[in-house]
Amino acid sequence: MNALGFAAQSATAPLERFVFERRAPEPDEIAIDILYCGVCHTDLHLARNHGGYTTFPIVPGHEIVGRVREVGTDVSRFKSGDMVGVGCMVDSCQHCKPCLKGWEQDCVEGATFTYNSIDWRDGSITFGGYSGSITVRDKFVLQLPEGLDPAGAAPLLCAGITTWSPLHRWKVGASSKVAVIGLGGLGHMALKLAKALGADVTLFTRSAGKEEDAFSLGADHVVLSGDPEQMKAVTGRFDIIIDTVPYDHDVNPYMTTLALEGVLVLVGYMGPLATPVRAGSVVQGRRAISGSFIGGVPETQQMLDFCGQHGIVSDVEIIPIQQINEAYERMLKSDVKYRFVIDLASLKS
Ligand code: NAP
Ligand code: ZN
Ligand code: ZN
Repeated sequence: MNALGFAAQSATAPLERFVFERRAPEPDEIAIDILYCGVCHTDLHLARNHGGYTTFPIVPGHEIVGRVREVGTDVSRFKSGDMVGVGCMVDSCQHCKPCLKGWEQDCVEGATFTYNSIDWRDGSITFGGYSGSITVRDKFVLQLPEGLDPAGAAPLLCAGITTWSPLHRWKVGASSKVAVIGLGGLGHMALKLAKALGADVTLFTRSAGKEEDAFSLGADHVVLSGDPEQMKAVTGRFDIIIDTVPYDHDVNPYMTTLALEGVLVLVGYMGPLATPVRAGSVVQGRRAISGSFIGGVPETQQMLDFCGQHGIVSDVEIIPIQQINEAYERMLKSDVKYRFVIDLASLKS
């Protein structure tokens, strides 16, 4: 059936109205009417082909909340009318080692990502959540806990799980000292989640003026990363640093703020770091640099359930889809508190 969305036709073209095909659900699939979709910095990277691997036209969007319209004949977990979430993946092989462990994001055969990915079922390129509907394999559909605001819950499907996964892997709890670099979509979720896990939480930011927001989002301390005195004052402090910066940056100043056996987890930037990391900063203090890529389906459900229990959602600015290009410009200037979410009802206007 015909679906309506917004797509970029090239790396320099604005996103515009785009009509395309969505298939009816196969026996193990679910068709969802999309209500809200968050705007992740990855959408901007891909729409502008920053990594050089975008297939155009691209319909971004992988922070999806919607209502089940139709289920395939083999689906028993969901029924028409259920409120559900879809994140960065819509399918994977289900039999490789990572898939069997619930780490579908690292599927050996390549997970089918929600957009800009080859759909193994028909060879088409997947289109994401900046659209009115989506068809997804049932195992990749998440249950939305009752009581969570659906627009605020949408960013949990990427920003939430991407920051939850490393906090969970490194067993962050009441005795942990956590730092987060960058107060944007991922950063503000990291503050909320680390605080709810009981940690002592610090924000590193380049931007003076974000302090009050940071404290209300869960930070106990704020460090201006451009101020050498403030940086020096936190030498040797953190067990884990979640680095959400989307562009190249020097990680060396942060390494010295790690405690013994502390770990810096890269989640933001994927390209080469232009400033080499001083080996001594990991050799001494048994420190580590690691990375983390979204999270698997079971872990995403666990994060959603945790958010349901603790009443955690994203702080959002809801926009009509017609404002998406302006939202990208504002995101580049860090002018968003702290996630844009598209109200897909606007597609009809
Ligand atoms: P965002 O909302 O734009 O936030 C990024 C924050 O980083 C900004 O608010 C700013 O915080 C800081 N920042 C921005 N540009 C910077 C620069 N040039 N140098 C230093 N700091 C800078 O972006 P987001 O949606 O949170 O995404 C962050 C990154 O994570 C993106 O690259 C995205 O593609 C990636 N991502 C990765 C995964 C994964 O699975 N690993 C998942 C989702 C997103 P301050 O003003 O406070 O400094
Ligand atoms: Zn994302
Ligand atoms: Zn697999």
